Amino acid sequence: MILIKSAARSRTVALNFMLPSDLDMRLMRQALAEAEKALCLGEVPVGAVLVCDEVTVAAHNLKEERLDATAHAEMLVLSEASKNLGRWRLGGTLYVTLEPCVMCAGALVQSRVDRLVFGAYDPRGGGCGSIVDLVREPRLNHRMEVLGGVLAEDASSLLGKLFGDLRG
Ligand SMILES: [Zn+2]
Repeated sequence: MILIKSAARSRTVALNFMLPSDLDMRLMRQALAEAEKALCLGEVPVGAVLVCDEVTVAAHNLKEERLDATAHAEMLVLSEASKNLGRWRLGGTLYVTLEPCVMCAGALVQSRVDRLVFGAYDPRGGGCGSIVDLVREPRLNHRMEVLGGVLAEDASSLLGKLFGDLRG
């Protein structure tokens, strides 16, 4: 949070400047590497990394392979982290290459994730600002810090490759 004193109107304006840290960039690149693995399998290329205490878990979308609509990258890392840590209340930071859908946004709230960093916005299915904003909904019992658009072009270009292949 940076406070700027406006000379013209002599009032203080609060602006939120949230920039990704070097660590955020490194972990988003790891999530992008997961998304590439999904692309190689013919899955929609979305990858996720969850950093939670001493545990770092990475996964990619496996919806087609598992024939399971819930096998999104985010759901897989949440489950794996819960198994590893022996708890469902996770905290931590989730990195994902695409804005989470409403299912995953709900799961992030349920898992009490502290912070969400995502890549490309999803205007057709995003549950974290694009269509609804479940992760910052004041009527729910948990909210998190959100940073969107991190390495978004890389994430979009992977998605474009899949849909380009399907068309060709
Ligand atoms: Zn999802």
